[in-house]
Formats: sequence, structure tokens, C-alpha cells
Amino acid sequence: MGANTSLSLQILLNRGAAHLIENFGSDELKATYCERMYSGEWTGTMCLTEAGAGSDLGEIKTSAVKQADGSYLLSGEKIFITSGNHDLTPNIIHAVLARTPGAPAGAKGLSLFVVPKIRVTTDGSLGDPNDVVCAGIEHKLGIHGSPTCSLVFGNSGACQGFLLGQEGQGISLMFQMMNAARYEVGIQGLSIAAAAQQAALAYSRERLQGRSFSNKKADAPQSPIVQHPEVRRSLLLQASYVQAMRALVSYTGWCMDMAHVTKGEEHDRWQGLVELFTPVCKAWCSDWGFRVTEWALQTFGGYGYTMDYPAEQYLRDCKIASIYEGTNGIQALDLVGRKLRMQEGRPVKHLLGLVAEAAQSLASDPILASSAQQLASAAKAMGTVLTELPARENGMMLTVLNAVPMLDMLGHMVAGHLLLQQALVAKAKLAALLQERGVAAEDAAAVRALLTESPEAAFYHNKIQVAIHFAHRGLPLVAAQAVALRAGETAPMDAVL
Ligand SMILES: Cc1cc2nc3c(=O)[nH]c(=O)nc-3n(C[C@H](O)[C@H](O)[C@H](O)COP(=O)(O)OP(=O)(O)OC[C@H]3O[C@@H](n4cnc5c(N)ncnc54)[C@H](O)[C@@H]3O)c2cc1C
Repeated sequence: MGANTSLSLQILLNRGAAHLIENFGSDELKATYCERMYSGEWTGTMCLTEAGAGSDLGEIKTSAVKQADGSYLLSGEKIFITSGNHDLTPNIIHAVLARTPGAPAGAKGLSLFVVPKIRVTTDGSLGDPNDVVCAGIEHKLGIHGSPTCSLVFGNSGACQGFLLGQEGQGISLMFQMMNAARYEVGIQGLSIAAAAQQAALAYSRERLQGRSFSNKKADAPQSPIVQHPEVRRSLLLQASYVQAMRALVSYTGWCMDMAHVTKGEEHDRWQGLVELFTPVCKAWCSDWGFRVTEWALQTFGGYGYTMDYPAEQYLRDCKIASIYEGTNGIQALDLVGRKLRMQEGRPVKHLLGLVAEAAQSLASDPILASSAQQLASAAKAMGTVLTELPARENGMMLTVLNAVPMLDMLGHMVAGHLLLQQALVAKAKLAALLQERGVAAEDAAAVRALLTESPEAAFYHNKIQVAIHFAHRGLPLVAAQAVALRAGETAPMDAVL
């Protein structure tokens, strides 16, 4: 995803569309499409958005009318469809949300259909085109390698589609694809940020400007910018957020696996965390991933603003992650409206308990104690906001108004917690390496020599520095936002906009 976001999008959506057919299609549909999609012979799309139905999918107008043979005729226009048309593969398989005649208004009236670009004959070979026409391709800020298409279905009254599941189940079935895609769009934010941060670090080691902090004499040689404290601060902040995002998506992946292999209450506990973390992975990683690309571009100075270096492309490519698959505003509403309340709030209470306990267990750690203190303050601030805000007289409005900062607070708290857990592991690994090499931890010069000579030792050392930096620069944002939220300020609702 970091190396080629556009190409990875194609793969992400193809897998998601094939998975829908695998889980909800008839045996015939599975036999016709799944293997050829999973193998990459054909690709897939997700077709939800229409001009009047973006965040509000209940407004979808595309229609699907059942035919005597059990198939449906579709008619309507979709916009912004990723990989909606291209020449990379001979067929494209669209997963389309549409409305059957007489279906209830809103999202509950939607059904899900498989619509091939080229019809497939009974022997599996490609037949006639299926009346799906690409009416245009968007000119965009980034992901220029990804064709974002307007598609017209059934302009000549001959667009054949096949139902997945039952009529009316469309939106709930589509959530299988959307939840996976939301998680993966979070990984997209992480991946592009990681690529940008790596490019910035490499550049900072080569670019010579100014004199080193410790030798400012005019005749001293120019130093690589990586030696300047301000550049180092930015580079470590970039690394901190990249590792924070990676920790969050990795831990969420672990929760998914645990939910998959457990049953009963234990399953509910892991699944609760998966559902809680899905909008946080999507929104927190895409928002902070974008900021990391901005900081990385700054490391390049004027060269970052040119197309001679990749920094500007990372920034442009990353922005879309906060917009598609449900904007980050919609993710935040999902968090406060559904995820915090599900299972009577048990998942979030469980999480707050875990974090507070972890902070407590590090309270007297010689290296991590002050970071643990920051974590404890963040958890306390988060807990207070979650109980206090909804209980106010205007609690519902305050919660909706502040959904985005609440998601941001939760993302910081969880990521800070996970980075400290990683730092604990890194500390033990580094101590073992020092012992193995016969280096005393108190001998600063010998430790520094080992860090310079051993990439492994430097890796563990940096894991600890990253956790400490995030704890002191990222985690205090939780308490700061709690101050703003608890003040109950409602100017955006009072302003004339
Ligand atoms: C490059 C690209 C690729 C895309 N790929 C696909 C694809 O493959 N398939 C597909 O179906 N779609 C795709 N989309 C569409 C994308 O998912 C939508 O753009 C997105 O869901 C937002 O819809 P919208 O653009 O209509 O914005 P709107 O829904 O008009 O939102 C505008 C703003 O209002 C806010 N807003 C809207 N409603 C509310 C509300 N109820 N409460 C609070 N805030 C609200 C939003 O957060 C946003 O900030 C793609 C879009 C782009 C740009």
C-alpha cells in the first residue's frame, strides 16, 4: 500500500467483492466468479455512491427489477467507483447496491447484486457486454493510478445482475466488505505515512545544511540536517505516529484472530474490541497518516514541494483515506452512536480497565514511569469524558458535536498503551543484548558504541524512545481535548454558518 496505493486499492476491492460472492452467492455464482477474481484474472468493485447518495446510502436510487429467470435488470448511475473500468483484466465484476420495486425507503430497502461488465456464458467463457458503460473518469488530487469512474447501468435496458443473499439484506451484507475495507483504509494511512517517514529520514541523512548544534563555527563543515534538534524532533514524531498506527492496526488484527478462534463470552469480548477499533483504525490512521506525510514533506524543505521527490505524492495520495469508505466524520459518529454503546458499553469499559492496569504496572519503572503517568492521565480523562458528557442535559448534542475529538482521544490512548507495551518488550531485549555483548548498562559510551554498531540494538533502543516521545507529545492531547469537551462549549451550534 505504501509502495503503490493505487494498485493496492484494486486488490483490496477485488478481494472484498469476491468475498461477498463467496459468502452470500449461490453455488453457481461462486463457481462462475470466485476463483477468477481471487486469482486476479478478473477484478471487482464496490458500487454504492450516487450523486445524491454519498454518506447517506439510504438515498440510493439505482433500481433492480426481477426477471422470469430469477436474474434482475439494473438501471441507474453510480459515481466515484474505484477501478470501475480499466484494461487490466478482460472482465470486471461489480458489487452493486440497488433498490427493488416496492422496497421500503432508506437503507433497509437496499439489495446487493453481482453485475459483470461482460456477461459470462454457461461454459464460463466471456459473452456479450452487459450494458455497463463508463461515462467518465475523475481528475483527482492523488491516487492518479486508480481510475475513479462514473458508471451507467442499464442505459439500453439490458444490464443483468444476480442477487446476493435475500432482497432487503443489501446493506447488512455490504457491511462485510465495508468493515474490512475500513480497516484496510486505516492500513493505507499507516502505509503511506510509513513510506513518507522513511523517505524523509533517508533525505535528512544526505542533505547538508547549517552547522551542527555542537559545532557552530563558520568554518565547520556543513552537517546533515538529521543532526539539527528541530529536524530530529519532527523525524521522531513521524516515527512515533507511524509506530502508533502500526500498533493499533496490528492489535486490531490480533483481536480479529482471537474473535475467530474463541466462543461465548470470550468471543464477545474480542469481537467487541474489533468493532470498537474498526472506525478508530480507519479514521485515526488516515488523519494522522496524512499529518505525518505533511511533516515528512517539510523535512525535504523546498524540494519536498517539487515533483522531484516522492514527498508531495505521499501527501496527495494519503488525503483520500480520510474521505472514502465513509468519511472520518461518519466513522466518529459510528463510534459514539453505536460502538461505545454496544454490549451496554462493556468493550470500552474493558479497554479502559486494561489501559489503567497497564499504566499502574509501570508506575515505578525506572525508564517508563513518566510515560506511564501520561497514559494514566489519558485513560482518566477519556473515562471522565465518556461518563460525564452523555449524562449532561444536552449530552446527545455534545456527544455528536464532539464525536471526532472523542475518536481522536481514544486512538491516542490505545496507541499510547500499545507502544508502552512494546517498549517493555524492547527494554528486555536490549538488556539481553547488552548482557550478551558484555556491555554494562551504566557505561554510556559503551552503550552508545553498541547502538552505533548493532542495528538490532538501535532498533530496540528506538522502540523505547518512540514510546516515550509519543507518551509525552501524543498522549497529553487526550487530556487537553478533555478540558475543551468538559467545558461544554457549543459555539459551532450557535454560530451563524
Ligand atoms: C477517489 C475516490 C474513490 C472512491 N471510491 C468509491 C468506490 O469504489 N465505491 C463507492 O461506492 N464510492 C467510492 N467513493 C465515494 C466515497 O465513498 C464518498 O465520496 C464518501 O462516502 C463521501 O460521500 P460524498 O462525497 O457524497 O460526501 P457527502 O456525503 O456529501 O459529505 C460531505 C461532508 O459532509 C459530512 N457529512 C455528510 N453527512 C453527514 C452526517 N449525517 N453527519 C455529519 N457529517 C456528515 C461528511 O463527513 C463530509 O465531510 C470514492 C470517492 C473518491 C473521491
